[in-house]
Amino acid sequence: MLSYLHDHLEELQIWCAIFLNDYGRYLWFAGLMFLVIGFWKSKAWSHRKIRPNRPKNSQIWREIRYSTYASAIFATFGFLMVIGEQYGFVKIYTDISTFGWVYFGVSLTVMIIVHDAYFYWTHRLLHHPALFRYAHVTHHRSHSPTPWTAYAFDPIEAAINGAFVFLFVCVMPAHPAAIFLFMTHMIARNVLGHCGYELMPKGMLRHPVFKWLTSVTHHDLHHASSRYNFGLYFSYWDKWMGTEHPEYQVRFEKITQQPLTAKQAVNDPHAETAIKRSAQ
Ligand SMILES: [Zn+2]
Ligand SMILES: [Zn+2]
Repeated sequence: MLSYLHDHLEELQIWCAIFLNDYGRYLWFAGLMFLVIGFWKSKAWSHRKIRPNRPKNSQIWREIRYSTYASAIFATFGFLMVIGEQYGFVKIYTDISTFGWVYFGVSLTVMIIVHDAYFYWTHRLLHHPALFRYAHVTHHRSHSPTPWTAYAFDPIEAAINGAFVFLFVCVMPAHPAAIFLFMTHMIARNVLGHCGYELMPKGMLRHPVFKWLTSVTHHDLHHASSRYNFGLYFSYWDKWMGTEHPEYQVRFEKITQQPLTAKQAVNDPHAETAIKRSAQ
């Protein structure tokens, strides 16, 4: 065993470096959000808290444990990308001038839009009764999500999500900096969607452009009532496929009726009752 590891020390070091990168990104973003909503802004933003309850510590430890496993699976796909590049079927280029800055921006935009579609459809597949309890139940055990829920996936779900960038760069060339920006945007939106506080501005759903972005309420409603809101970054797949939560817009307007910086908290006991009712 030891001699095997010694012979493959370089591969092991590469895998560990990718793992630390993926896991570190999760710990940084989730940890920072946890400190902001749990301590720094917990009172100031209390009128934007979607659920009144505070998740138990046991839930948070479970989320971190599963996120550690998920990061190991993500790192394995990252390692496959390194191998694939050596064999020439993974299209990563390191010189920006190869395709230029316009292509760099286009590749990043396409990666985000395609990932959103990939996530929506694989997410709906994971909700199929034949798959749900093997592949997606762990994520939904966090009925009231926290920033740490971001990577709390069953191994099958982690493999489906981790495979995306690998599959993408098999088809479309991407620069490492574009992949880095994609991953940063992904974890930021993912942690935000699970933070439990609606941080989007009032009127966002009435804006002609920003209404297509998902809010925190959007994904929180998915955890409360798993039949709706499967989207990740954008809301159009849910709108087009008729899977948007029927009360989404009303709930969003209600919780954002006061600006984030409002001094007076608005407590609405009816909102939580409605969320519980819709989850049953
Ligand atoms: Zn979630
Ligand atoms: Zn789900």
